[in-house]
Amino acid sequence: MMEQPTRWIRNFVDGRFVDPVDSAGFDDIDPATGVVVARVHEADRTIVDRAVAAARRAVHEGWADTPVRDRTDLLRRAADRIEQRFDEFVAAEVADTGKPIAQARQLDVPRAIANFRAFADIVAAAGQESFLTELGDGRRALNYALRKPLGVVAVIVPWNLPLLLLTWKVAPALACGNALVVKPSEETPATATLLAEVLGEVGLPDGVYNVVHGFGSDSAGEFLTTHPGIDGVTFTGSSTTGSHVMKTVAPRVRPVSFELGGKNAAVVFDDVDPAEALDGLARAIFTNTGQVCLCTERVYVQRTIFDDIAAGLVERAQQLRLGRPLDESTTTGPLISQEHRQKVRDYLDLAESSGAKVLTGGGVPELGAGLDGGAWIEPTLWTGLTNAHRVVREEIFGPVAALIPFDTEQEAVALANDTEYGLAASVWTNDLRRGHRVAQRMNVGMAWVNTWFLRDLRSPFGGMGLSGIGREGGESSLHFYTEPTNVCVQL
Ligand code: NAD
Repeated sequence: MMEQPTRWIRNFVDGRFVDPVDSAGFDDIDPATGVVVARVHEADRTIVDRAVAAARRAVHEGWADTPVRDRTDLLRRAADRIEQRFDEFVAAEVADTGKPIAQARQLDVPRAIANFRAFADIVAAAGQESFLTELGDGRRALNYALRKPLGVVAVIVPWNLPLLLLTWKVAPALACGNALVVKPSEETPATATLLAEVLGEVGLPDGVYNVVHGFGSDSAGEFLTTHPGIDGVTFTGSSTTGSHVMKTVAPRVRPVSFELGGKNAAVVFDDVDPAEALDGLARAIFTNTGQVCLCTERVYVQRTIFDDIAAGLVERAQQLRLGRPLDESTTTGPLISQEHRQKVRDYLDLAESSGAKVLTGGGVPELGAGLDGGAWIEPTLWTGLTNAHRVVREEIFGPVAALIPFDTEQEAVALANDTEYGLAASVWTNDLRRGHRVAQRMNVGMAWVNTWFLRDLRSPFGGMGLSGIGREGGESSLHFYTEPTNVCVQL
């Protein structure tokens, strides 16, 4: 058999792809099969330096002063172009992540398009704060705050929803007039690179969007966050990495936006509509093989309906179809890598040694048909655990959840809030007043009632505690990606 030429995924600097001069790089692996789909050119310090320098030049030589209307028009053209190249984005995302093609078509790529359109609207409509100041002695002054771009923003994103999470930052940052150096996850380099092509096609000036590939420590991630030419860092990833990045940025006192991990709770009351709640809970636990920061890993259920909810969730877990990502009927893909699967398997073992009863799953499925080399794991539900167990306290980031009974509303709130994380929670009840009351008492950035992952891009998104610093979305994104200068004019 003829050997296929290696397909390279390259760095993108100052409007051009950088050809690898040697074979320095790493493999891009399809986690469904374990097969190498491409080689990725790892950016060394010189490439990162060039990317930051290009971004600095681009922002100061025009992009920051480009009229907002032109910048937001460009975002809309980018959305249109992604729509035209929809199937390419879907294919690239599926090859990198192993996620089901149906999900990439319905969630990942449409949300990327929506991110560009929504932030074009939000930024085009944004006003500026102004105050008429009356000093009491007859003098008056006009204060107004002018919002300027931060400058060069480092965008560092994870592998779970690569394009969705990237464009969620790229769209508002560009609309606000910043230039970017983007570092996608080493596991999922393809769509950030494809986006470089699209942004060039719609006329983004050279140097405004740059992509550097690599890892974290002693690689492109750290070269970027420690770079003196960076004016701010927006980071999505684990809490441990976030804490590390914060230290590396601290000496130069740059603003950071951190969207980090979660150990999210669902609280299910016994007045709920069981079918509606079960469908929602199953989505919250198993979407993207549990690899969404918002996924539920703790389900607190009122004791009177505990057995029914547990049985209903087991039924839904067993209906999930694990299989080839390109098969239209597949609902559930693999985990992102063998390394991550080992982490999840360690938690499965820990749960059992902690006395958990495995209601369903608990191991590695045998799927055959070329999928044996993939990072597959069974959707898993446990009972018999409490908040004292590590598996109920630490983020696992897999298709797993612990079901825990409660008796009173007060107890449910205390259990849900008994965590160092604070990203998201959902409350399931048919009692309107209880829904509001409990949601308001959740110590999280986002609380849902009778739904999960329903997003309005104008609303604030982010977490408290170990789940992050700051908010993005709507006005919050504008605040992060700009710096105000207040002008005070005595009248
Ligand atoms: P990760 O922290 O390992 O990596 C995230 C990114 O940071 C990657 O691009 C990685 O290469 C880079 N990185 C790693 N070390 C670095 C360093 N020292 N300096 C600079 N960059 C570095 O996270 P992951 O495993 O890719 O993603 C999963 C995590 O992301 C989970 O904890 C999940 O909850 C979290 N997440 C949070 C949100 C949110 O919005 N809150 C969304 C999605 C994922």
